[in-house]
Amino acid sequence: MITKHERVEVKYDFMHITPPMKAPDVVGKSAVGSAKGWVPVNKETLQHVKYKNVWSLGDVAAVPMGKTGGSARKQYKVVVDNIIASMQGKSLASKYDGYTVCPLITNIGTVMLAEFNWASKPAGSGKNAASFPLDPTQERWIWWLLKVYALKPMTIHGMLSGRA
Ligand SMILES: Cc1cc2nc3c(=O)[nH]c(=O)nc-3n(C[C@H](O)[C@H](O)[C@H](O)COP(=O)(O)OP(=O)(O)OC[C@H]3O[C@@H](n4cnc5c(N)ncnc54)[C@H](O)[C@@H]3O)c2cc1C
Repeated sequence: MITKHERVEVKYDFMHITPPMKAPDVVGKSAVGSAKGWVPVNKETLQHVKYKNVWSLGDVAAVPMGKTGGSARKQYKVVVDNIIASMQGKSLASKYDGYTVCPLITNIGTVMLAEFNWASKPAGSGKNAASFPLDPTQERWIWWLLKVYALKPMTIHGMLSGRA
């Protein structure tokens, strides 16, 4: 196999640029961190691959795609369920499925709600992670209202107390 790099021009109508990311060194370079700077966990159970009494979720966890508040919202229930199961000597039945959600602001007043998990297929071609029967590739004012008015109370009153 020969690897080659060349500049190409590609037409686009939407560009989303992601900077390089890593966990803070205090975590990534600690004993529970990995060579790549994340906390290595089983991506479904969120249990540390080496230390069975260590669990990780949120941005620092070495989980594919799951780097949003919406992912953390699904992950903390898995971690709580599995810590309790582990303490009771039961199998780790609760699994994270890669659920990720990100409101992409496309204009003042419109947002695209990108919602997907590891099993997601392109919209319209089968199973995807959308919570509502609306095409996630379309920008909508209703998601603007969600982003501007609903997410903060949901985070403060729902997520921080583990109810949402
Ligand atoms: C611009 C932007 C917009 C986003 N918009 C969305 C969105 O609309 N929806 C969505 O779902 N997600 C969104 N996200 C992603 C979301 O914010 C993160 O995925 C989420 O906050 C991760 O939560 P966390 O608890 O893992 O980490 P964090 O929220 O980063 O919490 C980590 C905490 O640890 C603290 N900390 C760091 N080092 C130390 C230390 N040495 N000692 C003590 N404390 C320390 C930090 O100050 C921080 O408070 C956005 C992210 C960005 C940057």
